Amino acid sequence: MEQVSKTGWVLFGWLVAGAAGGPAHGDAIADHARQLHFASIVLDTHADTTQRLFTSAYDFGKRNSDGSHVDLPRMRAGGLNAQFFSIWIDADIHGPPAVEKALDQIDAVRELTRSHPKDLVLATTAEDVRRAHAAGKIAALMGIEGGHMLGNDLRMVRVYAALGVRYMTLSHFHNSELADSSTDKPVHNGLSEFGKEVVREMNRNGMMVDISHVSDKSFYDALEVSRAPLIASHSSVRSISAHARNMTDEMIQALAAKGGVIQINYEVSYLSDEFRAAYETQIGSVSGTDEKLLKECHGDDVCMEEASKRQVIAAQAAGRLPHVTWEKIVEHIAYVVKLVGPDHVGLGSDFDGAIMPDGMDDCSYLPRITEALLRRGYSDADVRKILGGNTLRVMAAAERVAREMQGVAPH
Ligand SMILES: [Zn+2]
Repeated sequence: MEQVSKTGWVLFGWLVAGAAGGPAHGDAIADHARQLHFASIVLDTHADTTQRLFTSAYDFGKRNSDGSHVDLPRMRAGGLNAQFFSIWIDADIHGPPAVEKALDQIDAVRELTRSHPKDLVLATTAEDVRRAHAAGKIAALMGIEGGHMLGNDLRMVRVYAALGVRYMTLSHFHNSELADSSTDKPVHNGLSEFGKEVVREMNRNGMMVDISHVSDKSFYDALEVSRAPLIASHSSVRSISAHARNMTDEMIQALAAKGGVIQINYEVSYLSDEFRAAYETQIGSVSGTDEKLLKECHGDDVCMEEASKRQVIAAQAAGRLPHVTWEKIVEHIAYVVKLVGPDHVGLGSDFDGAIMPDGMDDCSYLPRITEALLRRGYSDADVRKILGGNTLRVMAAAERVAREMQGVAPH
């Protein structure tokens, strides 16, 4: 969740995607892209769709036109067959209320899989994701966005893991008890002692450590403490857009050196420096918007997202904010591949929690990414890694570390 929301060219985008989805006659790359995309595991590590489940206007089983980015028909249309549903609550909620709200969301995702048994299955291992794919089902996974949801209680790592949560972001926009955030004033100098303890407990429970949102120092601390590779579930490249939420080249290299993966966030401020700079001048920082809209919407996150979207659409119509197109996503992916090779980048859209670039108006447009990667000359094997294979590798590594730490014989 980034508190700013997508722009609205749904109709226009849909027409264009229709053309991209059904390749031009005789275009070998387009035909092959479509085949490859729909035969692959397409795993996205971050969507805020969970919060939509609490609104009456949204129905996951139907195609929605409420400004959302993800639902069953559009997942099928976009070949999105493995999704981490984000468990998100505001970063200012702490203690038992944070736990209670997180449990509400975990229950909602679990109930979602129970109520769509033909299409969805809860996945908690890399093997589960592969099995779901083989059965033609969509794997639903869960990630907690912010260590504040532990309610300052280490035991909650074990409880959340038992309920099926497979990653936790150490902080959100504000510092948590675990870690300094990239968008807050540091108080722990990176990870706190509690944060380090939590990382070890996450390792022991096979929960991936997510360093999106944390400060650079928190990232380096987590990298040192964690026995399993890290993920950045929804971050982009700081060399392209100088937002604190993005990763520097040095961070990406350090992440990759320990086997980790950066999953590219499609939020326009993180994709485009031009947009980021204009947004900060015209509207304020992404985390600053959070505060303002929070008051306006009395903390209702879907309301905040829609309000933020209206704000951006108006600013774009007035020419105060530039347009950003979906090709930027591919630019970020290609940058990481050039920097550290094809094994350390994946997809972390931030669907339903961010402003999408033009032409990636929802998850049904995902096949475009596969086609663009093939046009850049990537091999099928590398495209499959980027679409999901890399994240599955980290997930399996986290499972292996958990077995080792629990003294269970590997299988
Ligand atoms: Zn986020």
